[in-house]
Amino acid sequence: MTTSADRPWLRHFTEEQRKDVEYPPSVLHGFLAAAERVPDHPALRYFDGALTYRDLDTLSDGLARRLAARGFAPGDRLAVMLQNVPQFVVALLAAWRAGGAVVPVNPMYKRGELAHILDDAGAAAIVCSEAAWDGYVRDTAAGSPVRIALTASEFDLQTRDDPRVLTGARRPAADAEDLPAAARAGGPELAVAPPAAGDTALISYTSGTSGRPKGALNTHGNLSFNAHRQVRIQELGEDAVVFALAPLFHITGMVCQLSAALVAGHTLALTYRFEPGVVLDAFREYRPAYTVGPSTAFMALLARPDATAADFASFRLISSGGAPLPPAVVEAFRARTGGLYLANGYGLTECSAPCASVPPGSEAPVDPDSGTLAVGVPGPGTMVRILDDAGAEVPFGTPGEIAVSGPMVVPGYWNRPEESRAALPGGELLTGDVGFMDEDGWLYVVDRKKDMINASGFKVWPREVEDVLYTHPAIREAAVVGVPDAYRGETVKAYVSLRPGADADPAAIVAYCRERLAAYKYPREVEVLGELPKTATGKILRRELRTTAG
Ligand code: AMP
Repeated sequence: MTTSADRPWLRHFTEEQRKDVEYPPSVLHGFLAAAERVPDHPALRYFDGALTYRDLDTLSDGLARRLAARGFAPGDRLAVMLQNVPQFVVALLAAWRAGGAVVPVNPMYKRGELAHILDDAGAAAIVCSEAAWDGYVRDTAAGSPVRIALTASEFDLQTRDDPRVLTGARRPAADAEDLPAAARAGGPELAVAPPAAGDTALISYTSGTSGRPKGALNTHGNLSFNAHRQVRIQELGEDAVVFALAPLFHITGMVCQLSAALVAGHTLALTYRFEPGVVLDAFREYRPAYTVGPSTAFMALLARPDATAADFASFRLISSGGAPLPPAVVEAFRARTGGLYLANGYGLTECSAPCASVPPGSEAPVDPDSGTLAVGVPGPGTMVRILDDAGAEVPFGTPGEIAVSGPMVVPGYWNRPEESRAALPGGELLTGDVGFMDEDGWLYVVDRKKDMINASGFKVWPREVEDVLYTHPAIREAAVVGVPDAYRGETVKAYVSLRPGADADPAAIVAYCRERLAAYKYPREVEVLGELPKTATGKILRRELRTTAG
């Protein structure tokens, strides 16, 4: 039997790309080297503001000293609850310089979600927006281990010479310190060893397959490997601008955008949060060479009537990751952007963002039987196996659970030895995703294991039905779930949102699918919604729809 041990995916890479990736123990090492190499190069752009590598070095060093002076010790955790603002990057580098780890927190989290994370991670410090601090973070932090509070205004650093940054004359709440002011205040020189590859860089909270969010322990080595691997394969050149479409608090934004840009000496352009009109403006102004975001963000950009091919002309690479990418969206994107190829990529928080992607210059095939677009091929240094229920590897073409190992896979979850052992037996990550691999090493994600619909014993994968829905001209977004059915046990229901100005009758959509899918697969019911529920990172929340439907 031919198996993944033969690593057929390596043939998609050049001799040079296939060599072992050399990488320093941490992204911080990579950043400090870039700061020496290109001190005057802009590291961050934020609206009209810019911070050079030297600025970022000085600010993060100052903040690290200030944190240490206030009692933040090596091994402590700093919760960073910010949108894509420059202070996010300053806080991240400062925590690492002080020997600590960062807990990225989605700023949309409500009180209960935040309280769980602060408690579970035992966060000693937090940085959030001034509005969030005054809103509910102050009260939430009061009942948590947090001892140090910093705030960051989204209005800061938007202009090149923001006087508030230079003077520290902000007006934060009395019980929180303004981050740029803290960085300016500094403190005694640090006597902290630089991070080792095995030290924890991030505790990334993820719901995984079930239960309350748990913290994946992304080590410095995990992040450094994936960041350097990406830089080597992309070959963007040092002057490249990377646009931060994905949020930095999510692993895709953290690794593919931020970490890769910092070690390469690129410029990272930030625009607070995803707003399609602002993003198009930013493309026009910064002329980025690369960005990555969830497929839903690209669908939202395509829905803008003012988006033109010229807006996308600066891109050399553009990737969709973190959520399923329907083949129809790739073609719509190509048509609208004058030929730009939207490259799929697959990863998880637990493997520090990508573990499979489409090598530059290639296009992912579509499986002729299911119509699924390949997510890419595993990268050099990565092992992907497809396993049956007994944990044995299956032949090419057979679906099973995707299992990943390599230098970017986390060693486990924070304070969860049992769940760590279950998800990572022998260090190999069981992803909970079902997929298959073809003989050329292309990986296809069929669906989440737990999202499978069982209709009278027939297994329906929602993705396959969604891919058909996306070929319908009126449909903008689609999500398919299983709903209880007296006769079939479960049956197939679709939720869709429509393109601006489009009109479609649910019965006609059912008929459209019926023509294109086996009888047990087509949705028996279609409901049109204005907007489908999504996570902050753009994944459509099937879970929520299932609850509504059930
Ligand atoms: P997260 O940990 O938030 O990054 O979510 C990881 C999950 O997103 C994976 O387990 C997959 O279910 C899903 N995912 C990521 N990338 C893709 C992709 N390209 N196609 C389909 N599903 C994806």
